[in-house]
Amino acid sequence: MVYKRVLLKFSGEALANNNKEKIYDPFVFERLINFIKSFHAYNKMEVAVVVGAGNIWRGRNNVGIKFDAAESDYIGMLGTVMNAIALKDQLIQAGVDAVILSAFLIEGIAEKTTPELANKYLEAGKIVLFAGGTGKPFFTTDTGAAMRAIDINADAIIMAKDGVDGLYTKNPHVYRDAQKIASASYQDLIDIKIEALDLSALELLKETNIHLLVLGMDEVKSFETVEEHIEIGTIVKRGVTL
Ligand code: UDP
Repeated sequence: MVYKRVLLKFSGEALANNNKEKIYDPFVFERLINFIKSFHAYNKMEVAVVVGAGNIWRGRNNVGIKFDAAESDYIGMLGTVMNAIALKDQLIQAGVDAVILSAFLIEGIAEKTTPELANKYLEAGKIVLFAGGTGKPFFTTDTGAAMRAIDINADAIIMAKDGVDGLYTKNPHVYRDAQKIASASYQDLIDIKIEALDLSALELLKETNIHLLVLGMDEVKSFETVEEHIEIGTIVKRGVTL
């Protein structure tokens, strides 16, 4: 399967330094930008990116502070805009043209996303950074990634995780009997109530032909063949069982 258009999803923590005390780190940026560039350079692949905000704020971080849950989520959504600005800056410095499309219009920073605008930029060879998640509280950027992948009719979502090399039946850092999943259907993951992915993202993707590849950031040096990546991570499609 040759992917022409992919959406890369990073959690915000993928931008932070190793001990997570700084929201951004120069060495981490270098690795991340090379990772994004390797897809872009491979066979003229069209590349979109969705980034989370776990390095800055997650709505559920409001322990001890009496934020309204929805307001707390808006802080998180704006965190994704900050991360998109940071990635755009680093991509442009690395010689790759990139634009931010956001769930909210932010004059001078991001246009409001539409499938038509995203297509126009992708076809022109620009990297499209989707910010603001779904634009609605009570969701996460995994669901935002699923929505935007559907908007742009992506062939695949490539989810690069930190500290794991794919999907496991349970959290491998907590459970010794957690097993790595080589391939699964979206329905399989819904059935086992997988914690590493959002149910709403899986529900959105299960009726589509979009593939989901979950990889470890550390294992992926550069993009050579899709098959190589499928071997090291987890591939999720409709209609394949565990
Ligand atoms: N968020 C939201 N709606 C969305 C996407 C994100 O409310 O559609 C908020 C939510 O508070 C979330 C935060 O933004 O915790 C950061 O997103 P996420 O947790 O997905 O970031 P990641 O874990 O990928 O770094």
